[in-house]
Amino acid sequence: MTGLQNNSQKSVTVIGAGVAGMSAACALAEAGFRVQLVEQRGYLGGRASSYLHPGVNEVIDNCQHVLFGCCTNLMGFYRRIGVADRIQWTREMTMIEPGGRSSRLGPFELGPLRLPAPLHSAPSFLNAKAFTLADKLSLGRAILAMMAPAALIDTHESLGAWLRRHKQTEGAINRFWRLVIASALNAEMDAIAVPYAAKVIRELFLNSAQAGSMGMSMVPLSELYAGVPQFLAERSGSVHLNTHVEGASWNEDLAQWLICTRTGELVSDFVILALPFDATQKLLPHLPAEPGAEKLARQIERHEHWPICSVHLWFDREITELEHAVLLDREIHWIYNQSKLQGRGGHYIELVVSATRSFAALPRETAIQQALSELAEFFPRVKEAKLEKVALIKEMHATFGVNPGIDSARPTAASPWPNLFMAGDWTATGWPSTMESAARSGYLAAEALGLSAENPLHCFEPDLKLQGMMRWISD
Ligand SMILES: Cc1cc2nc3c(=O)[nH]c(=O)nc-3n(C[C@H](O)[C@H](O)[C@H](O)COP(=O)(O)OP(=O)(O)OC[C@H]3O[C@@H](n4cnc5c(N)ncnc54)[C@H](O)[C@@H]3O)c2cc1C
Repeated sequence: MTGLQNNSQKSVTVIGAGVAGMSAACALAEAGFRVQLVEQRGYLGGRASSYLHPGVNEVIDNCQHVLFGCCTNLMGFYRRIGVADRIQWTREMTMIEPGGRSSRLGPFELGPLRLPAPLHSAPSFLNAKAFTLADKLSLGRAILAMMAPAALIDTHESLGAWLRRHKQTEGAINRFWRLVIASALNAEMDAIAVPYAAKVIRELFLNSAQAGSMGMSMVPLSELYAGVPQFLAERSGSVHLNTHVEGASWNEDLAQWLICTRTGELVSDFVILALPFDATQKLLPHLPAEPGAEKLARQIERHEHWPICSVHLWFDREITELEHAVLLDREIHWIYNQSKLQGRGGHYIELVVSATRSFAALPRETAIQQALSELAEFFPRVKEAKLEKVALIKEMHATFGVNPGIDSARPTAASPWPNLFMAGDWTATGWPSTMESAARSGYLAAEALGLSAENPLHCFEPDLKLQGMMRWISD
């Protein structure tokens, strides 16, 4: 990071304290800007946060959030606020079939012996009982085809159509493409642009073992950000919680923004809007009229939400020793053993259902019963265990969809207004709806703002270096 530490203290209001807003705010504060971070909720973290759930009287994450080694900007943000060591990493993914048979995917390691990328996970894939020989051949062919340079992949084709063209077996579709790839992108396969699927394949399975290792927080998510208010305060910044922004106006004479909130007014030289697309849409009519704003409004209209549900279960005994696994052939997709992952007392299991609108539409009791009966198919101890308490969290606006052609609807950090920059996971980062996309967008906005304020800063983290043969297979 470079930047003037003692500049003329240009001021910035960052609206929205999700990962995008927090990463922009901290980078700018470090570069000498006076930052006020404004958030409508009473806590930091936005869609990646934890809170005291009144129904179960426990602090829980709104949903398990995983990151990967390739999430260089998110890790850069965690390092900046001093919490990178709260992330635990694993290189193995366990897939379990109903009945309990399991397969493990992960890099081959025999003492010091490793295989070069992209072959590092090939032995475990070839060994995986979850796939038949026909599935493996069909997957191998498709993954090779997805290694084509990005420029040759049609951004307007859906993953569903691409898979039909590449004649994938039912096993490959159900147990890999739908479960691993579509669920990582949180949408049905016909609503996913192929380049985003290719990106997930490359990052998680091909580029390097490090890029594909999975990270999980060892503490509830909002604890990760507990140091952000002090980080900002030590750099003459501030956090304003419970502060809903209703609009803003630009004072040309003073070259300043006046930001109207439900609790008062704020003034600053610069603004970063670090909001989801729907909150940005609501704010548009309350910003100064600018011709470019119409284009932005049309871009936003092309976005849609996808839900993610999580079922949080407390049992009276341990139902599995596993820390986490992928569950095959059922509606529930992922299991996380939070008692082990977050070192919490009791027997706390979290199930995640992504990429499906039908589960999200179920009434609470039906959804919980379905999750429990499916869980018992994988872990028979569930039948004897007593369920002590349960919480169902439906996040209907969890992610934005990466449908074919979406890239032209993702705005850059530059905005139609003077001294105002855009961030948020849905802006033009090239990444799907993830914390990494949010962190990237925050850093891109901070760098664009720094340039415009003649106080350039460099906070954007480069991608990991490609390993092995992937160095010669360019993206
Ligand atoms: C259930 C679920 C599971 C997920 N799983 C994963 C995962 O495993 N891995 C992963 O990488 N990503 C995951 N994601 C996606 C990830 O959480 C988001 O991509 C990321 O957190 C978005 O960050 P953001 O800062 O762009 O937006 P947000 O987190 O939405 O932040 C925007 C903030 O702006 C605030 N705001 C809105 N309007 C106003 C206003 N008018 N005034 C003031 N404040 C306002 C909001 O309250 C919010 O705090 C998941 C998301 C959900 C919901």
